[in-house]
Parts: sequence; C-alpha cells; structure tokens
Amino acid sequence: MERCEALVIGLGAMGAATVYQLAKAGVNVVGIDRHHPPHTFGSSHGDTRITRLSVGEGAQYVPIVRNSHRIWRELEALSGESLFEQTGLLVLTSSPDFDPADETDFTLRTIALAQTYGIEHEVLDAAQIRQRFPQFAQVRDDAIGYFEPEGGFVRPERCIDVQLRLAEQRGATLYKGETVTHISSDEQGVTVTTDQRTVRADKLVVTAGNWAGGLLGAPFDRLLSVYRQKLFWFETEPDAELVGHSPTFIFTHGPDDDFYGFPALPGEGSLKVATAQYHSASTPETLDRTVSAEEEREMYEQRVQGRIAGLTDRVVKSAVCAYTVTPDRHFIIDEHPRLQHTLVVSACSGHGFKHSAALGEAFAQWCLRGKSELDLSLFSVGRFEQECQSL
Ligand SMILES: Cc1cc2nc3c(=O)[nH]c(=O)nc-3n(C[C@H](O)[C@H](O)[C@H](O)COP(=O)(O)OP(=O)(O)OC[C@H]3O[C@@H](n4cnc5c(N)ncnc54)[C@H](O)[C@@H]3O)c2cc1C
Repeated sequence: MERCEALVIGLGAMGAATVYQLAKAGVNVVGIDRHHPPHTFGSSHGDTRITRLSVGEGAQYVPIVRNSHRIWRELEALSGESLFEQTGLLVLTSSPDFDPADETDFTLRTIALAQTYGIEHEVLDAAQIRQRFPQFAQVRDDAIGYFEPEGGFVRPERCIDVQLRLAEQRGATLYKGETVTHISSDEQGVTVTTDQRTVRADKLVVTAGNWAGGLLGAPFDRLLSVYRQKLFWFETEPDAELVGHSPTFIFTHGPDDDFYGFPALPGEGSLKVATAQYHSASTPETLDRTVSAEEEREMYEQRVQGRIAGLTDRVVKSAVCAYTVTPDRHFIIDEHPRLQHTLVVSACSGHGFKHSAALGEAFAQWCLRGKSELDLSLFSVGRFEQECQSL
C-alpha cells in the first residue's frame, strides 16, 4: 500500500490549490482526480471567473479573497502566465423594484462592505454609469452602481494547470483518470481506495466538487445540490468598443433578472455572459452538458438585446458548468463528522473560485497544524444541525 502524509481527492480549483500549497510546504502529498484537470466536467471551466474584494455574499469572505489576490500574483511570477486580470468590476442595480433602503440588494451590500473594509471603490449614479459605460443600456434614472478598480477576473483552467504543474515540480504525486471509490479511517490515518490502488495518508482533504455528496454520503448528499448553469459567448460587432474598454460586471435588472459578464478578450471576437439558476437540480451523472439553440435565443432576447451595445445574436461558443450549492448558499468547510483526519470542502455554491488559492493555503495549514490562519468557522457543517439530525 502506498503511503503519504496528505492526500487530496479532486484536483479542480480547490484541490489544485491545496496540493500546490502542501507541496510548497514540503509535505509528501498525493492528489487523485477521476478526470484530467483542467477539464470540462466539473465546476471550473469556461475561461473566466469573477473576482472582487468586496464580496457581497458576506464579510467572512473578504480576508479570503484578499489572500487569493496575493497568491495569484505569486503564481504569475513563478509561472510567467497571466492568471488575474484587473479589469475593474461594475456591480449595478437598475430595477423597477429598487428600494435604496433594501439591505438585501446586492449592489448596496457590496457598497456597505467596501466602506466597512476600506476597499477602494466608487459609487456611481445613473448619469455617471451612462457616461463611463455607454456600452451598457437600460440604465434607469434611479440605478446605482459600484465600481471596484481591483476587481476583474481570473482564468480558471490556467490557475489549475499552473498550480498542478508547480505542485509536481515540488514533488507532489498526481494520479489523473483515477476514481476514488471508498474512504475509511482509524486513529492513525485514512485509507483511500481507487479503481487502481489503495493509498494510506495521515490527513485527507476531499475537494470532489459536484461529486462530493455521492462520495461522502450523509449528511453531505442531502446538503449539496447540483445546478446546471449555461455560459454564452456572443459575437462582438467588428467596431464594438468592448475589447479592453469594458469592465467585468454583475447586473440586476429586476427580481429573477440578473446576469454577469466579462470584457471581450483580445482576438476572440466574443463577449461571455451568463446567468445563475437554483430551481432545477441535477446530478453529475445526468447533467445535460449541451446548450440548445432555444436556450441561446432566450439568453439573447432576455438578457443581451438592448442591454449590451456591440453584440450580435450569434453565439460563437457555449458551455454547461454546474454549481454545487448548500441550503444557505455559503460554503461547507469542516472536518467530516465520522471520518477521522478528513477535511470536507463543498464546491462552494457557485462563488468559490475567487477564494480557491487562499483556501488551498488554509487547507494545507490544517493538514500541517490542525487549523488554519483564516477563520473558517462560519463554514461548519454543524450550522445545518436540523438537516443533519433528520438523517
Ligand atoms: C458557471 C459557473 C460560474 C461560476 N462563476 C464564478 C465566478 O465568477 N467567481 C467565482 O469565484 N466562482 C465562480 N464559480 C464557482 C467556482 O468556479 C467553483 O466554486 C469552483 O470552481 C469549485 O471548485 P472545486 O474544486 O470545488 O470543484 P471542481 O473544480 O469541479 O473539482 C472537483 C474535482 O473532483 C474530481 N472528483 C470528483 N469525484 C472524484 C472521485 N471520486 N475521485 C477522484 N476525483 C474526483 C473531479 O473530477 C473534479 O476535477 C462558478 C461556477 C460555475 C459552474
């Protein structure tokens, strides 16, 4: 039986960051993935992921993303690859039901957090938004905008690839195309069985993304739901000023009418936009991985047409990617209630990539010292006590 100090199951966003940080710390680490990351079967593909310091999802995320921004730059220096593009980020609410006193509004929450944490930003009214960003139409007179110069996007496939390569250079052993089928533990450590081998480890980190519920069983199978998401790259018109002139953005135009997007990337002739849906659950095995012509047309008519100048209705590329979501849409990061020496990481409810570099560092600290410098206690599985008890 092979032995190692730390084992990581799943080498996507979270797992790649974890094996890299463990290898960097000199730990004898093994990583296992059922596919060949970066790949298109999980939650970490599609060219771009938004990152922002004022994380409207909650104050607990601000220290995490700050660390990630530091680590992306370290990884760029080590690899020579461009990973983090600081394009500026525009968050906008332009909605008929906008209430300036509504503390749940995403733009207002983002502004409040930026003020509390001293994050550089500008608050923009409708006239300023129209003047600064004429490519975005349908800005109501009572619209409110938040602009964060340090926000932008990271390139998920490249981030994963770079971290896995650097991990291997530092001695990590990575098994790709190999599926973990069983995990057991005792006081001394953990035994992980794959379709090809058995490995014994002192510590185990499970970052299995969409598959975590199936692999870990109760209570995780009940707490983690998989939701199909669609990504669209619409063709840019030849003279559109969207390349290098446009920020990364998150727009709310009404209840159930929000979407986000990225600047058009040089040489690609397209701009990526997407929505998020949480009403129709799926599984990694049954997920429909193709986007239909009907879905493309719907996206154009409902979100793009009349809202972003310089795009045609032609979709040059589309993709399906899946969120794995907890009941409160926050992360689960906690020790497994029954398996000893095992840390469980949920795929982070559709907003985890920006935090992954820093979380990898924190998980490596957990393997080494039993705790991390970042306070991750708000992500405990115990907050779902009721759900856990009913199992
Ligand atoms: C469409 C979409 C848009 C998003 N946008 C953003 C954004 O703008 N900003 C942001 O911060 N976040 C965003 N996210 C969320 C973010 O991408 C995810 O939180 C993150 O990528 C999850 O990483 P992960 O490592 O948990 O999962 P994954 O990257 O999917 O990795 C899990 C890995 O585990 C492997 N695995 C599973 N089971 C086994 C097994 N039994 N044996 C071996 N290997 C196994 C899989 O093959 C896979 O490689 C988005 C997600 C999606 C889907």
